[in-house]
Amino acid sequence: MKQIHNFNAGPCVLPKEAINATIEHLKDFAGTGMSVIEVSHRSKEWEAVMKETEALWKELLQIPDGYRVLFLGGGASLQFLMVAMNFLEKKAAYLETGVWAKKALKEAKGIGEVVCVASSADTVYNYIPKNYKIPTDVDYFHITTNNTIYGTEIRKDIDSPVPLIADMSSDIMSRPVDVSKYAMIYGGAQKNVGPAGVTFVIVKEDMLGKVTRYLPTMLNYKTHIENDSMFNTPPVFSIMVMNETLKWLKNLGGLEVMNKMNVEKAALLYDEIDRNSMFVGTAEKDSRSIMNVCFVMSEQYKDKEADFLAFAREKNMVGLKGHRSVGGFRASLYNACPKESVLALVACMQEFEKLNK
Ligand SMILES: *Cc1c(COP(=O)(O)O)cnc(C)c1O
Repeated sequence: MKQIHNFNAGPCVLPKEAINATIEHLKDFAGTGMSVIEVSHRSKEWEAVMKETEALWKELLQIPDGYRVLFLGGGASLQFLMVAMNFLEKKAAYLETGVWAKKALKEAKGIGEVVCVASSADTVYNYIPKNYKIPTDVDYFHITTNNTIYGTEIRKDIDSPVPLIADMSSDIMSRPVDVSKYAMIYGGAQKNVGPAGVTFVIVKEDMLGKVTRYLPTMLNYKTHIENDSMFNTPPVFSIMVMNETLKWLKNLGGLEVMNKMNVEKAALLYDEIDRNSMFVGTAEKDSRSIMNVCFVMSEQYKDKEADFLAFAREKNMVGLKGHRSVGGFRASLYNACPKESVLALVACMQEFEKLNK
């Protein structure tokens, strides 16, 4: 198999160890003589995987008592709606830091009154707004911690006077998080914790049951809590890969170690972007994401964009094209992206500079 440097934004690179362990479960799951995708989700072997996966989440993120971790379908995009349905009674506040944040806001608007406390849309979301005020008369405040498309990130758990809800789709498990500061954290698994098909929801149980509207059974978090994420058939394959991905993370030393590695990888690439006069970073420096590094050709070399992509492709680098809405380049440096890939990209940028400047 050829060696690829995978910078895809999601789905994206996953740990080889997790993929190989999954292959074994696909052949013979827990000695059952059946594949993991053939066993009953009510079997004791599968129930053990569900329990272990929730326990791994609680251990890695040091989730306090009073919270549950759910594994659902529908992606982060369905959570945009479920959050509002389950928590918005009179009013909610949103921070608009990108297209995902805007989509979350839009869904909430369909449910009730919403205030946008600040937006960085004016400069194509290249920074995280500061000095905004969180209203105290709202049911919750919603943020998107990592803006996958624009490469900006809120890397510090903020203090909120009202329940804080965060979409952490693209930076979950990249650093330790003080879960006690959040009423809910959710995201699609397909960036840092597994393949597409499963959505994680970390929810504080005593936050639920406060809205008066009718909640459809499948869209009510209580349904999934009461049934340990098995009200209906869970996405077994995706959860299996997530389980193995979390085990890999635990074996590596957990989130402190992961954070150090991620900070180091991102610094290598940002240093090169800042040094190399052919490239410029697009996010403001104090808002830079350690997960998605976004950059463009500098003004003078604008016509070289396609050349650079082709040059990198020749060197087996995949997924460097920026999101279709912003163009340029984006290197996603998720947990499973090895430092070697980042070093290879830096070398590629240096070589391109030598050949073209
Ligand atoms: C990828 C992504 C989403 C969308 O997730 P789906 O699971 O495809 O619905 C939402 N928010 C953020 C921050 C993302 O990176």
